[in-house]
Amino acid sequence: INRQNTKLPVKHVLPNVKKVVLVSSGKGGVGKSTVAANLAIALRNSNLNVGVLDADIFGPSIPKLFNLKGEPRLSNDGKLLPMINYGIQTMSMGYLLPSEDNPVVWRGAMVQKATQQLLFDVAWSNLDLLIVDMPPGTGDVQLTMSQVLKIDGAVIVSTSQDLALLDVKKGIAMFQKVNVPIIGLVENMSVFVCPNCNHEEHLFGQDGVLNQSDRLGIEFLGSIPLNRQICNSSDEGFPVALDKDSKLGTLYGSIASKVK
Ligand code: ADP
Repeated sequence: INRQNTKLPVKHVLPNVKKVVLVSSGKGGVGKSTVAANLAIALRNSNLNVGVLDADIFGPSIPKLFNLKGEPRLSNDGKLLPMINYGIQTMSMGYLLPSEDNPVVWRGAMVQKATQQLLFDVAWSNLDLLIVDMPPGTGDVQLTMSQVLKIDGAVIVSTSQDLALLDVKKGIAMFQKVNVPIIGLVENMSVFVCPNCNHEEHLFGQDGVLNQSDRLGIEFLGSIPLNRQICNSSDEGFPVALDKDSKLGTLYGSIASKVK
């Protein structure tokens, strides 16, 4: 027996954090960060104390989505103090990089170190729930994070396109391997309703995520339409869920109620 392989990594609990929920996707660009931000806001709307950790170090979106920039201050014991907007504590590599237009060429050891710092060097304050916006896919970073952190569950975001669903299966297999419970699947960009004629177009296919949930025996958490308002409000740093009584706000609220 190879002893190294039988030794399980220790799962760390984050101080001042009651629950950790990952928002993950097989592919990039399916709307994972947008879902993470709106879910966090919807959970905050139900009076939970929420934080968002942007673990997507290659393409951090949380600063823009929360209309935050600048450098985080340090606590007395040298931890990073979360940046706060809309009552939500956030931390992102985006705050720590020299400039938005200056991409860092990440090397293996740097990625490891940056991820460790985001995971363990943040002074969260009294969180009921921490949402982690994961990097897309099933690489080293995702695997390590799922192994070293005590995680309460993962939400997986996908479109209904076959190409995206293929990678969802891989993501699920990874989480099952490291004993992370899967809360459910969210379909994003499900349908586009033409504002002129009300025609409904299922750009990425219809019911693909729902059928995949059925096949895999995983809960289907809901569908979010492809909607100009979601796109625009993200660019403005004012996610739609902030308007909690709107149609979209209610939709994110119903998904959030299955997550907490
Ligand atoms: P990921 O985190 O999976 O890479 P993002 O959340 O950054 O994806 O979303 C990719 C792009 O799609 C962004 O420009 C975002 O504003 C847009 N987007 C995401 N979800 C929707 C939606 N439901 N309707 C319209 N645009 C969306």
